[in-house]
Amino acid sequence: MDVHESEAPERHDLCIVGAGLAGLNALAVASEYLAPGGSVLLVDRRDRAGGMWVDTYDYVRLHQPHPLFTAGNTPWTLGRDRDHLATKHEVLDHLQHCLEVAASRVQVSTLFGWEVESHVEGEESVRITCRSNDGETRVVEADRLIRAFGHAVSPNEPLELSSARVRSVSPDHGDVRSQEIAGNDAPVWVIGGGKTAMDTVHALVTTYPGREVNLVAGHGTFFMRREEMFPAGARRWWGGTVMSALAMGAVRRFDGTNANQVNAWIRDTCGTSLVPKPRNFMFGVLSEAETRTIEAGLSRVITDYLEDVVDHDEQPQLVLRGGDAIAIEPGSWIINCTGYLLQETRTDEPAVSAGGKVVSIHTNAATGAVPAGVAYFLTHMMYRGELHDAPLYELDLGALRRRAPAEYASALAALDLHNLSVILDRVPSRVMMNCGVDLDGWYPLPRQMLSATRFMVTHRRHRDHSRRCLDRLRERHDIAGGVRRQLVPEGAL
Ligand SMILES: Cc1cc2nc3c(=O)[nH]c(=O)nc-3n(C[C@H](O)[C@H](O)[C@H](O)COP(=O)(O)OP(=O)(O)OC[C@H]3O[C@@H](n4cnc5c(N)ncnc54)[C@H](O)[C@@H]3O)c2cc1C
Repeated sequence: MDVHESEAPERHDLCIVGAGLAGLNALAVASEYLAPGGSVLLVDRRDRAGGMWVDTYDYVRLHQPHPLFTAGNTPWTLGRDRDHLATKHEVLDHLQHCLEVAASRVQVSTLFGWEVESHVEGEESVRITCRSNDGETRVVEADRLIRAFGHAVSPNEPLELSSARVRSVSPDHGDVRSQEIAGNDAPVWVIGGGKTAMDTVHALVTTYPGREVNLVAGHGTFFMRREEMFPAGARRWWGGTVMSALAMGAVRRFDGTNANQVNAWIRDTCGTSLVPKPRNFMFGVLSEAETRTIEAGLSRVITDYLEDVVDHDEQPQLVLRGGDAIAIEPGSWIINCTGYLLQETRTDEPAVSAGGKVVSIHTNAATGAVPAGVAYFLTHMMYRGELHDAPLYELDLGALRRRAPAEYASALAALDLHNLSVILDRVPSRVMMNCGVDLDGWYPLPRQMLSATRFMVTHRRHRDHSRRCLDRLRERHDIAGGVRRQLVPEGAL
């Protein structure tokens, strides 16, 4: 190992691993607490700030209006209408801007193209070992470490298929609107039912009207209707569904065993879907107009899972999990949109280390639905001395997604409500109101205040109920998690 142990390691007040939205939220918050000369090291294995937005497909756009996607409460400088859905490049520019705003307050050093390999928490500081993409190793010390890994999103690869007569591609390795697909008329099969699949079908049917585009949608996913969640114009004052009210309504109906009923209620309240009885819900947003365009442009929708494409008598066939085989045209394009979220993470660290100096924001011990929101609140709590004994609930989201995908949304709503209640007891209301990724921020202030007041009045009741639901769900599916107990004196929870 090419490390010079005799040299004193570089020293920082804080090291943040991950320059995606979560890491940048941690940075924005830390820059409010550190002295002007305070120093932060930001490390990311990608070669710039932006996280997953750096290498996801070109036609991706924000689900929500752009002002609600930011670090801390850094305003956008785009100059577009509030309801504009930012493009990939606009998002990347804004995230770079967030980094620059924080760097105007504290000293920020970046190590892009570097991976953090390990860390050791000591009495006084954390020792962190980083390795560059070309093999150089560096050891640094920091008073605190925030590992903002988020949902560990990495680009989709083309599906490995047995057939030699189809073309298997990934939207992340070439824009479906312009790559080879544009050069011929062969049918396209989009595999997946989530937001990437919807974006891809939408891009295909609007770029190549009349082309045969088909979808293999699994059990089907429903989305929150954009018109309902983010109503335009004066409807913001009286119409639509406020996100926190939706979450509270879902948790009130949840008992840890009835997620299908909760999903049905969410669907009736604000859902849109291509298929009649979708089972999955991942908090994605789609407009009714997009759903109708997609529906009108699709030749065929199959509600099953693709296992493989095989050649049978020189004819390619889709092999489906349910047992069906469907003959398809030779030369068809198979586009992998099977989803990025909750791929395996290689860490099992708790959200907060025993020594209290290391915060980990990852899916194996998730403390909220949105990693950026988790980073925002946990960093505030860390600098206010409120984190080490906070009875936050942790949940292994990867296991949840694998073992009980249909229960994902109900569980996340309960997890959010439980932990926001813990947080509310420990931070001033100013911190709650300034969270830039809070989707309630779409509505005029009086409506936001009304929702906040409702939450303040009911949150302890919601917390106990949420904990019981989560405990029951974990027991049913043998999922790791629970209220953090390691530093909390017996009986204090
Ligand atoms: C296709 C797609 C579209 C989405 N659209 C939206 C949307 O419109 N609105 C929305 O709110 N959410 C959306 N999401 C969810 C999205 O993932 C988050 O909103 C957010 O941008 C993720 O930020 P993050 O910081 O949590 O994670 P990431 O963006 O994944 O950032 C984590 C970073 O940590 C780095 N990292 C991890 N481990 C290490 C290590 N050991 N060493 C060094 N670096 C490391 C990674 O390289 C990465 O850059 C979307 C997700 C996907 C997949």
